[in-house]
Amino acid sequence: MSQTRVRFAPSPTGPLHIGGVRTALYNYLLAKKTAGTFILRIEDTDQNRYVAGAEDYIKEALEWFGISPDEGPGYGGEHGPYRQSERKDIYAKYVQAMIDRGHAYYAFDTEEELTKIREEEKEKGNHSFKYNWQVRDKMRNSVSLSNEETEKLLSQNSNVTVRLKIPTNETISFTDIVRGEVSFESNELDDKVIMKADGMPTYHLANIVDDHLMEISHVIRGEEWLSSTAHHVLMYKFLDWEAPKFAHLPLILNPTGGGKLSKRHGAKFGFPVFPLEWNSGEEIFQGFREDGFDSEAVVNFLSLLGWNPGDDKEMMTRKEMINLFSLEKIVKSGAKFDFDKAKWFNQQYIIGKPEVEILNVLRNGKNSNKFSSFSDQFMLKSIKLMKERVTVYPDFFEKGQYLFDLPVEYDLKTLNKKYKPENQVHFDAVHSLIEKDEEFTAESLSGKIKGYITDHEISFGAIFPILRIVLSGTMKGPDLFEMMELLGREDVLIRWKAGFAQIEKN
Ligand code: GLU
Repeated sequence: MSQTRVRFAPSPTGPLHIGGVRTALYNYLLAKKTAGTFILRIEDTDQNRYVAGAEDYIKEALEWFGISPDEGPGYGGEHGPYRQSERKDIYAKYVQAMIDRGHAYYAFDTEEELTKIREEEKEKGNHSFKYNWQVRDKMRNSVSLSNEETEKLLSQNSNVTVRLKIPTNETISFTDIVRGEVSFESNELDDKVIMKADGMPTYHLANIVDDHLMEISHVIRGEEWLSSTAHHVLMYKFLDWEAPKFAHLPLILNPTGGGKLSKRHGAKFGFPVFPLEWNSGEEIFQGFREDGFDSEAVVNFLSLLGWNPGDDKEMMTRKEMINLFSLEKIVKSGAKFDFDKAKWFNQQYIIGKPEVEILNVLRNGKNSNKFSSFSDQFMLKSIKLMKERVTVYPDFFEKGQYLFDLPVEYDLKTLNKKYKPENQVHFDAVHSLIEKDEEFTAESLSGKIKGYITDHEISFGAIFPILRIVLSGTMKGPDLFEMMELLGREDVLIRWKAGFAQIEKN
């Protein structure tokens, strides 16, 4: 069997959408599973849509997810260059070959002429004008013009593009690994431009030439490219090349139903649709990384948006994912982007992650200054106490704020309800137990305080909620005695004072 070579071929027109990450991931998984090669190719032939910084963003995102390419710009490889703008000279001879064989032709129509025709057609009620077999003869091209006229226009080098000459009355069929047999009627297809007036190839031409020269075995890409595949299959035939295998991935749908997940949905519902934060100059778009997601959790979440490994399997290590992956198990229907599910995965990954690794993430994360004065020992203990209670990394600080500083606010409603002045004598007694406890471990504190409560026949409910709110400001939090041990006597007594001052104020 020949070697698997797959490619992720983004256009650097902006930040990589999460759907693009999923495409990259499936390519990567197939490559790893088959000991093949995962290639990054930058499809930057459309200079008008080029966005500076987008290529670096793409690479940084792939690296963050741990799905780095084996070949690509900056990664080496024998099939480079891997940026299409650096391959301009390569494409011309294939265009020529198709012209020579009568499968492509020169077209001289200017943008103005084409716009005019489109408008005229619109007036007649035809809103989707196609440059195709029906109009080819009426347009200005080397099919409709005489050889002399063509030669003359070519020598003037005025606005020459090259278009594919789509044959008439043919059914173009190919097998898609996800969709099975797919057919298109050639009469429905347009004569796509393959070479632009500036000498740059269009996406369609560059894509198939590069897939061929880079010896790509499988083209795995989004469903939006399915209809272009008919053109691609024809070009492979025109050039006597064997086409790669195709697998078109289902759309990722927005969470509220129909329609492709877009950046507008992200902004509307406040969740990221980009892997990393992106500053467009006018707007900053949220990123999973900056929002405090674990990259492995996002990979796991994304892997299941369109792939069903079977057995209701959800949590998977990278190794399991690679072993289980197969293109045959990709589903046809669109996959709904469920942000709650992304958060659930993140929670599971944080719970399962060793505390030292979490500490490493926090020390390098955006809130790191908030933890910088705390020892590793303190941090590891607080991570242990909090890790079941957080969803994303910043929660360690946001939900656990009171572990690092006095509470910023107190749950006064509960405090007022639960605090009974007649119990103050018991609070004073508990205070002195705390002051005098030599060991100051969760165990000794719990033993002494619970012992006192039992001996005096008062209820836990009269004391614990008050202690909890005095120490942390909130009823939600880790085990009271574990928290006291972590904070230490001095800090507990300071909080006691501040908390009871709040009670008095009320
Ligand atoms: N450059 C195309 C894109 O941006 C790639 C499509 C393909 O993989 O063939 O999605």
